[in-house]
Formats: sequence, structure tokens, C-alpha cells
Amino acid sequence: MKVLVTGGAGFIGSNLCERLLADPTIEQVRVIDDLSTGFAENLSGLGVEFHEASILDVGALERASSGCDAIVHLAALGSVPRSIENPMATHDANATGTLNVLQAARRVGNAHVVLASSSSVYGANPRLPKSEDMLCQPMSPYAVTKLATEQYAMAFAKVYDLPVLPFRFFNVYGPKQRAGHVYAAVIPVFVDAAVRGVPLPVNGDGQQSRDFTYVGTVVDVLATAVTAQVTGGPTNLAFGSRTSLLDLIALIEQGIGRSVEVEHRPARTGDVPHSQADNSVLRGLFPSLDPVPLEEGVRATIAWMEQTLQV
Ligand code: NAD
Repeated sequence: MKVLVTGGAGFIGSNLCERLLADPTIEQVRVIDDLSTGFAENLSGLGVEFHEASILDVGALERASSGCDAIVHLAALGSVPRSIENPMATHDANATGTLNVLQAARRVGNAHVVLASSSSVYGANPRLPKSEDMLCQPMSPYAVTKLATEQYAMAFAKVYDLPVLPFRFFNVYGPKQRAGHVYAAVIPVFVDAAVRGVPLPVNGDGQQSRDFTYVGTVVDVLATAVTAQVTGGPTNLAFGSRTSLLDLIALIEQGIGRSVEVEHRPARTGDVPHSQADNSVLRGLFPSLDPVPLEEGVRATIAWMEQTLQV
């Protein structure tokens, strides 16, 4: 089986490439990535066929996807604040980019497409836990593009019989997720600060909660979806835990074995207050899942960060 990973030089993508290459049923892994937020070094030594190009370049996408049986579509410009600052760039990469990927899948004879959507599609709908049949009320341009991603996939399934499976990721974290840039996610920002011994920046009061999912668990699900050719509608990829930022900080303190300082900042526009997945659809599709617990995942993230920062 030949698999193309779009955005494969990114955080989740590079972890996925490593996981796919460990599977004997996978003959080749290709990556298309324009390195806008990813890093070629994430793939060093892995043995993937790397196409440094944008998914907005249809010719490059056609070359990268030729002969592929499956595509895992992860390429996107992440971050709610980035999309508020530049909605067009986010739209181009995430919505138009997805359309290009789906067209490429059709061109190679209807390759199976597994796609990354986001819990941000639930947006202003306050109901918890978030179940897939709830009304989506996106609160940012980013969330709209992720809704477009999954809706394009479902439309292609309907009208062209394309086999698809869009996943709604909820706060994925783990090794290879970087801090040190303005759009960094909360776990790498906190772990980086804790390891360096500087105050942890908390937006708002820290009571906001998230359903954190370890990247090793996410890539296991993605790899199983590819090899077992699982198809379906938008599916939450998280396990129904709900951890506040203050509880997360306590776990980080346990992991590094000392207390940390916290610096409160204003709450961010477009961020949802709470997020927690209903995982019954996921469990129905993947009954034998065994997610990595948060304590263990945070310890692995601290170890990676310490190694990266060489402290
Ligand atoms: P990431 O930024 O590390 O990875 C995205 C990759 O896509 C990067 O390597 C980037 O260079 C590449 N890319 C961006 N635009 C591109 C383009 N036009 N052409 C080719 N490559 C392009 O982010 P990630 O956290 O690994 O996210 C992967 C996917 O998961 C994204 O679609 C993101 O929206 C989605 N997602 C992630 C999370 C999370 O918690 N990390 C949550 C919800 C959804």
C-alpha cells in the first residue's frame, strides 16, 4: 500500500509517518509539505519520499499522489488567532487545499482519504460533551475552514463515491510539537516554560478546559483507519476527558518534580471556553482503542522537550 501524507513534515504528520513506516503492510510513505509551519528535520532518517510543495500547486499534488492507495490529509494552517489575522491565507490552505486533495484522490482512481478536521467546528454551541450530531457554530475563520474540509469530503463521498473519513481532532499534544512561535499550542508552551524555569503564560483564569489527546494515540487511530480502509462521517478523535489548564499545570509540576510560576494574560478572542468529546462514534469504528493517559503523555512530552532544549 502507498500512502501520501499531506502536511507530513508537521507535528502530527511526522509522528504519523514514523508510525506508518513501522507497518509491514505499508510499502511507501510520501509527504507533500511546503514547510510553512513544518520542518524537514522532523522527517530526517525516516525514509519517506518528500515533495516540498504546496497542496495549492495542483501539478505537484498530482505528482505526489500518483499511484497512491490512500491519502491522509493533514496539511493546513492551524491556529485560531492566525486565521483572525489573515483569513484569506487560512481559507486558501485549508478549504481550497482540501478541494485540491480530494480532486487528486479522484484522479488516482478514488484513493481512500482520511482528513483532519477540528473540535473548533462546535464553536459557540455550549453543550458538553460534543457529539457529532450537534449543531456546528464556528467562531473563527479557522473553524469555518475545518467545517469546509469535512463537508467537502462528505460531499465527495456522496457525489463521486470517494471513500473518506474526516476526524475532528481535539487538542493533540506530544513530542515534535513546538513552542517558541506566536501560534503555539498550550501544552508545548507550558512544558517549554516549565522546563526553562520561566512563568507559564495562562490566557484568562485557567479554568477553561480541553480534551487533550496524545499524538501516539492519534497516529495509531489514523494508521488503523488507513490500513483497514475505514470510512464514515465526521468523527471525534478524543476520549472524553476534560482537563482545566490549572489541572494541566499541576500535572506538569508533578512531571518535572517542582512547582512552577504562572502569569495570567487576557482571554483570547475566538477561543471556546470548554471542550470535551463524546467518543461513542470513535469507539464504534475502533473498538479496541487504548488511549495513552494524560499523565504518561505529559511525561513523554517533558522528556522530549528536555532533550530538545538540552537541559
Ligand atoms: P502543523 O502546523 O505542525 O502541521 C501542518 C503541516 O501542514 C505543516 O508541516 C505545514 O508546513 C503544512 N502545510 C501548511 N500549509 C500547507 C500547504 N498549503 N501545502 C502543503 N503543506 C502545508 O500542525 P499539526 O498540529 O500537525 O496539525 C495537523 C492537522 O491537524 C491540521 O490540519 C490541523 O488543522 C489539524 N488539527 C490539529 C490539532 C492539534 O491539536 N494539533 C487540533 C485540531 C486539528
